[in-house]
Amino acid sequence: PLGNIERNGRKNVPDCNASDIFDKILRSDDLKDLICSYNDLCQQLKLLPGPLQTFYPTIKNNVKIWKGKSLWNCLDKHQSHKVYENGNACKNLRVLIVGAGPCGLRAAIEAQLLGANVTVIEKRTYFSRNNVVKLWPFVIQDLKTLGAKVFHGKLGTGDIEHISIKKLQFILLKISLFLGVQFFHGTCYKDFVYPCGKKSGWHVKVNPIDHPVNKYEFDVIVSADGNKQSVKGFKGSELRGKLAIAITANFINKQLDADVKAEEICGVSYIYKQELFKAMKETTGIDLENIVYYKGDTHYFVMTAKKQSLLDKGVIIKDTLNSKDLLLSSNVSKLALIDYVEKAASYVTKEQLPNLELERNHDGKEDVAIFDFTNMWQADNSCRIIERKGKKLLLGLVGDSLLEPFWPTGSGCAKGFFSCFDMCWMMKQFNSGKTSLLEIIVERESLFRILPQMTTDNIKNFTNYSLEPLSRYVNTNKGGFLVSDALALLDTDAPD
Ligand code: FAD
Repeated sequence: PLGNIERNGRKNVPDCNASDIFDKILRSDDLKDLICSYNDLCQQLKLLPGPLQTFYPTIKNNVKIWKGKSLWNCLDKHQSHKVYENGNACKNLRVLIVGAGPCGLRAAIEAQLLGANVTVIEKRTYFSRNNVVKLWPFVIQDLKTLGAKVFHGKLGTGDIEHISIKKLQFILLKISLFLGVQFFHGTCYKDFVYPCGKKSGWHVKVNPIDHPVNKYEFDVIVSADGNKQSVKGFKGSELRGKLAIAITANFINKQLDADVKAEEICGVSYIYKQELFKAMKETTGIDLENIVYYKGDTHYFVMTAKKQSLLDKGVIIKDTLNSKDLLLSSNVSKLALIDYVEKAASYVTKEQLPNLELERNHDGKEDVAIFDFTNMWQADNSCRIIERKGKKLLLGLVGDSLLEPFWPTGSGCAKGFFSCFDMCWMMKQFNSGKTSLLEIIVERESLFRILPQMTTDNIKNFTNYSLEPLSRYVNTNKGGFLVSDALALLDTDAPD
C-alpha cells in the first residue's frame, strides 16, 4: 500500500533537505499543505508509511534540527516503556482507525507504538474546529510525554490547560505521521466486509469507492468517529436529561491590547454566581445557566442558554412541542443568534473586547453554533470479536462514539483517551494470543463500566500511566462483567 504518497503526493520532490521539510510540517496548520509536505519528506527519504520499526528510525536519523531532536527524545522515552515490547507487541496486526478526531489519533499513536500497521481514515478534508477543550492534568502530561510542546510551546505553562480541537488534532496527526501511521483524509467509512474465502481476510467499504483502503485487509477496526452506532453490531442508548441548549462562538483574536488584556472565565454557573447572571438578564435580557471563555487563536465562548430568553430574543423563532424541531436551522435566526452571543460575550468580559468579530469557518460562515445536548449517547458495549473462516476481527469503540461526555465537566478528552488506552491494551492481548478471547472481552467491558464514573479523584496519580489498566485505574472492576455476558460479544463460526 502506497497510502498518503499514492493519493496525495506531488510528482516532484522539492529541492530542500529533510530538516527543512520537517520544519515546514511543524508549522503547517492546513491539512492539505501538511500532507503535501509530509509526502515530500517521505519521497525525499524514499520512505513509505508503515510499521514503526521500519519508518520512524529513518525520519529520526535524517532530521537533526533541535526541534526534531526534542521531539525524538520525548518519543524515544515514551516508546521505551516495556508495554510496547520494542514495537513488537502488535507486530503484523493491521489496524484501521475510523476518524481523526483527538481520540482516533491518540489511539493511532499507541497502536503504532505497539508495532501495528495502522491506517487512519478521516471523512473531512480539513481540520477547522476552533472550539476549545479544557484538558485534565493527566491529558496535558500525556501530550507532553509525546512531545506536544515542540508544536505548542504554551501547552501546560502557567494556567494554559486548554487547546483548540483543531490544534490538538494537528499535533496528534503530526506525531502519528512521524511514527509511520498511514493517513487518508476525504475518506469515509461505510461498513466492514466479511472474508469471502479461506485466503481472504476482513475488508472495509469506504468512499470514494475506488479508494485503495477498500483493498486492504484488517484485523482490528477502531471506531473513533464520534458518531452513534456507525459500526455495525453496536447498540446504545440516549441518556435523557432536562432540556439543555448550548451555544458556541469563536471571535477573531486580533492580538491587540484589548485582546491581550481580556481575562478568561474558566467556567461560571448560575448556582455559584447568581448575582452575575441575574444582572446580565436585567441589563441585556440574556439568561444563561453557565458560561466559559477561553483565549487562544480565537476568543472562544461556550454557554448554556435558557429557552425562554432565546425565544424572547428571537433566536428561536417558534416554540415547538418536540424538542428535536426546536433547533432546526429553519427555526433559528442566525442574525439574532449572533447578536445574542456578542451581547453575552461583551457583558461577561465587562466590555473588555470592544470590536467583537466572529471568526469564519472553513466554508466562510460565521463560527457560531447552537445545539441541544439534552440527550447523551452511551454505547452498550465497547467491543466485539467476530471470527469467520479462521479470521478474527476485533471491533472497538473509543471516544465520543463510546461515551458522549456532558460537556460542562470538560471530561471528553480525558475519558476518550482512557478508552483509547483500554482499546490498545485489548489489541495487545488480542495479538498475543495468550489470553482467551472471552477473557479479553471481559476485561475491556469491565473497564468500560467504570469509565462513566471516572473523575480526577478516582484515577491514579498520573506519573506512571501506561496502557496497562492497573497503572491508571485504582480499581479495574474485576467481576464487573461476566464471561457469560461476554459470549454475546464473541461471534464465531468455529465449532469449538
Ligand atoms: P470527534 O472529535 O467527534 O472526532 C470524530 C472524527 O471522525 C471527526 O473528525 C469526523 O469527521 C470523523 N468521522 C466521522 N464519521 C466518519 C466516517 N464515517 N469515516 C471517517 N471519518 C469519520 N472535552 C474536553 O475534554 N474538554 C472540554 O472542555 C470540552 N468541551 C466541550 C464543549 C462542547 C460544547 C462540546 C460539544 C464538547 C466538549 N468536549 C470537551 C468534548 C470533546 O469535544 C469530545 O469529547 C472530543 O472531541 C471527542 O473526540 P473524538 O475523537 O471521540 O470524536
